[in-house]
Amino acid sequence: MESLRWTRAGTWQSVREICLALQRTCGREGVPGRPDCLHPGQAKNDMAMDQLRLYNTLSRRVEPVEKDGDRCGVYCCGPTVYAPAHIGNFRTFVAVDLLVRTLALASYDPFFVRNLTDIDDKTIAGSQAAGQGLEDFTGHWTEVFHRDCAALNLLPPAVEPRATDHINEQLAIIGRLVERGIAYERDGSVYFRIAAWKDYGRLSRLADRELLARENGRFAKDGAEDFVLWKAARESDGSVRYASPWGPGRPGWHIECSAMAWKHLGPNFSIHCGGVDLLFPHHENEIAQTEAAMDRPIARHWFHVAHLQIGGEKMSKSLGNLYTVADIVTAGHSSRTLRLALSSCHYGRELCFRPESLQSAGQALAQLDAVGKVLQKSSGGGRPMAQQFSRWQSVWEAVLEDLNLPLAIGRLFRGLRHWNPEKNANDDDWAEWQRLLFLLGLSLPPREEAVPDGIRSLAEERMAARRARDFIRADALRRKLADEGWAVRDTEDDYTLSRQQPRTG
Ligand code: AMP
Ligand code: ZN
Repeated sequence: MESLRWTRAGTWQSVREICLALQRTCGREGVPGRPDCLHPGQAKNDMAMDQLRLYNTLSRRVEPVEKDGDRCGVYCCGPTVYAPAHIGNFRTFVAVDLLVRTLALASYDPFFVRNLTDIDDKTIAGSQAAGQGLEDFTGHWTEVFHRDCAALNLLPPAVEPRATDHINEQLAIIGRLVERGIAYERDGSVYFRIAAWKDYGRLSRLADRELLARENGRFAKDGAEDFVLWKAARESDGSVRYASPWGPGRPGWHIECSAMAWKHLGPNFSIHCGGVDLLFPHHENEIAQTEAAMDRPIARHWFHVAHLQIGGEKMSKSLGNLYTVADIVTAGHSSRTLRLALSSCHYGRELCFRPESLQSAGQALAQLDAVGKVLQKSSGGGRPMAQQFSRWQSVWEAVLEDLNLPLAIGRLFRGLRHWNPEKNANDDDWAEWQRLLFLLGLSLPPREEAVPDGIRSLAEERMAARRARDFIRADALRRKLADEGWAVRDTEDDYTLSRQQPRTG
């Protein structure tokens, strides 16, 4: 069994890891001039640290974010991989991505961990219904999740642990809690005894009576409010079971995140993130488990993202009132537009999703793209990203004060009203623009040589066919373009055109 000693592996070079991952993306064919590059080496040493202030659910105050040591550990509760994530889930993941980007630009050196929940009632039931093994089933939904993350330009986490790969770590924490008399075994299951942990409820500040009966009564336990750490194997779990000192079974959901966060970030890191529905009981239980086992608070800052709502209700898989990223793209909006729409409401406020919000985000994006194209042309496009904001300092300041994206975006567009980049732009503006787009997670529109109108309309026709999933027509149009001497390359949600030798014969 894993010991509870945590050793920090190697040197944390997280911004650099992110940069290198991004540079691989930047170098991708057909997307020249993609701006998502920081400059490794410069990021850490040359930039002065800016201070980010963020609302902390634990203290109910906006407080400065602090590094833990020489970097800033960030843990985000990731998706449960049994179905496609919906745009409500992605509202949370986009907000966390904005946080990580801000930390990177402000020289916090973020080390970002986002897990995959691949074992729980839903993944087990889903794999059984699909007639697949748990690993194959969750592997498929993980791929779908990754595709959507790429479409939304989410930074890849430095580590993306899966719960099933951390059974030993979970058993180690449960073992420690049992040893300390804070957890107890009943009929092969193990429970956390809330009465034994006087600090329980600090995050959610719920009164005791509200805690009662939140966990259902399927299992024999001493207190109605006690929560399960280890579930004894049941027939309905099929072959999904692991050996433990208390007999075969599987972990409870809450212990998974405590174990993965501890394994990859240590027992005390800077920021723990998730949607607001996780505040209770999931995060409350994570705090209790980790603190009771390690004698240290798990995270200093708790970052919670308010829900995306639709028709006055939370978007959720159980209500079925959902859109996926693929639904939005099929309806003719680009995933960049979706990203901007998801970013433009403050993360702490509910976002009421309406199709019109995509239209206005699309118009805003077109305006940003127009500026980007002008700057790209006037600069030659090769200049490295700037190290600070000067023209857009007030935008940056709004971001540093509790990630106030609506204010930042408002300031950006007010600034654009008074600036004509056609007349008044230099290479520094280009470099700074890249930094701004990196912050917003918006890649630049692809750079192209002048495309004749006839070719453009063929390419647009092909794009429409692709969106309508008429791939036969899309392929026929690709061949037609090739005959005219143009190669079309698909990007995540768009395409690029480039000159090639016309086909012969
Ligand atoms: P799940 O895959 O259900 O475990 O959820 C993944 C993440 O999405 C969690 O951080 C949830 O809190 C978050 N989430 C779920 N529904 C919504 C919603 N409607 N709006 C914002 N975040 C959500
Ligand atoms: Zn979690």
